[in-house]
Amino acid sequence: MDKNKICALISGLYHLQGESALPASADVVPEYTGLRLFDAPIVGFASAEDPLFELYKKPGVIGPWHMSPREWLPEAETVISLFFPITKEIRDSNAREQELASLPWLYARIEGQAFIGRYMQAFAEKIRESGASVCVPQADPRWQSVKNGEGIEGYDEMTPETFGSRWSERHAAYICGLGTFGLSKGLITKRGIAGRFASVVTDMAFEPDPRPYTGVYDYCIQCGACVVRCPVGAIDPVKGKDHIICSQCLDRSRELFSPRYGCGLCQTGVPCEDRDPSE
Ligand code: SF4
Ligand code: SF4
Repeated sequence: MDKNKICALISGLYHLQGESALPASADVVPEYTGLRLFDAPIVGFASAEDPLFELYKKPGVIGPWHMSPREWLPEAETVISLFFPITKEIRDSNAREQELASLPWLYARIEGQAFIGRYMQAFAEKIRESGASVCVPQADPRWQSVKNGEGIEGYDEMTPETFGSRWSERHAAYICGLGTFGLSKGLITKRGIAGRFASVVTDMAFEPDPRPYTGVYDYCIQCGACVVRCPVGAIDPVKGKDHIICSQCLDRSRELFSPRYGCGLCQTGVPCEDRDPSE
């Protein structure tokens, strides 16, 4: 498969998978059944040998628990990252909120992630059918979230106040040329910050996409709109996001809306919501 065929496959699968329409279920408000959660994904390619993957292992960048592409798949040649932009209808609903996420936003967070899980399995299956090998880190049993190094052998209490995982989709997307970080710590793509990422690691070799940026925050205009939007003061105009305050807000959302949760107020009603504001 060449790069064009992969891109055609990605777009074809989006249609085959029902364009992310919210399925009917007992606890989905009927008026939202069929609501489209995401637009078609955009895609970026990177070499599995890109030196930034090793840099991510350094304490203070991500940490030594972050696995490189060849730890996920020893024969890896390429990382393919996808960004699924949240649809305008859902972004608008969240932008109208001041305290808690809108219901459609919660659907995009939870049912949307389930859609992406199904989508990535279908994508991986197509890659396998072509004779290539593939790993989907976020669906791999080795994937693990990391909080203060807890539960990670050798890293317990090593780095206080650390939140992360064995594989950061945002950091992979940065290497794949999809965008740069914002003050709110999301990744701002050419289709904005409001959306979700996924990736595969494969032994198929492709030319990496150029990264049209040099700085980690190139697309963020430091406007501070996300600081104002955050209902709990989790974003400092200089230091960026405090993950502890943010996660407490998400815990409260879980208490109110379980099994769903979410917030994303800092990703909606802001200049980087659906575009690169530096352009
Ligand atoms: S709202 Fe402004 S400061 Fe915050 S991430 Fe977006 S561009 Fe950067
Ligand atoms: S930083 Fe966290 S709590 Fe604040 S708006 Fe963003 S998601 Fe919500």
